[in-house]
Amino acid sequence: MRTKSSITAEPVARYVIEKITVDTALERRLRTETEKLSNGGMISGSDVGRLLGVLAQSIGAQRALEIGTFTGYTALMIAQALPPDGRLICCDVSDEWTRIGRPYWNEAGVTSKIDLRLAPALETLRGLEAGSIDFAFIDADKMNYDNYYEACMKLVRPGGLILLDNMLWGGDVADSAVRDETTVALRNLNAKIAADSRVTSVLMTVGDGVMLCRRK
Ligand code: CA
Repeated sequence: MRTKSSITAEPVARYVIEKITVDTALERRLRTETEKLSNGGMISGSDVGRLLGVLAQSIGAQRALEIGTFTGYTALMIAQALPPDGRLICCDVSDEWTRIGRPYWNEAGVTSKIDLRLAPALETLRGLEAGSIDFAFIDADKMNYDNYYEACMKLVRPGGLILLDNMLWGGDVADSAVRDETTVALRNLNAKIAADSRVTSVLMTVGDGVMLCRRK
């Protein structure tokens, strides 16, 4: 799977993630372990991680959903922001990757909040109750993003948030000369969301671009 990281100039990105949105020691250990993997670059930056936590807390999220858990870093960030009786449903297909995160969830005391569903996400989403989710984070296979977005539209309650990661795709979405299918899919979805009357939204130039949508 192709990986994209920060679109911000390197010194500025380093300043933000190393000096300002600093991982805790535990989060850092999970990051270090993940970065040893061949696809370890897929892990979200600490800026995106912190953003998820702040936003989930800001809306008093109790029921959260993550589509694409990988090694569990962003799940850790969201779960830590939920109240003790909060619940985060994590969708992923990889036992191998999510297994890496589980000891860290345990150590952080958030395991009881996390409901990991190892199955194709669209199957899991079909089984969830409409309007039952406060906060959703989409960070999985890009060609299914629009399907995940539409599923979240049903699941997220009015006033709830839907966030989509990697929506700047290394800046490629802004370059009309780049026409590979993933770039085109994300470019089209950005345009669709910007014009979507079901949400108010902003495309934030944090990390690799985070689209933030508030369900009306
Ligand atoms: Ca991502």
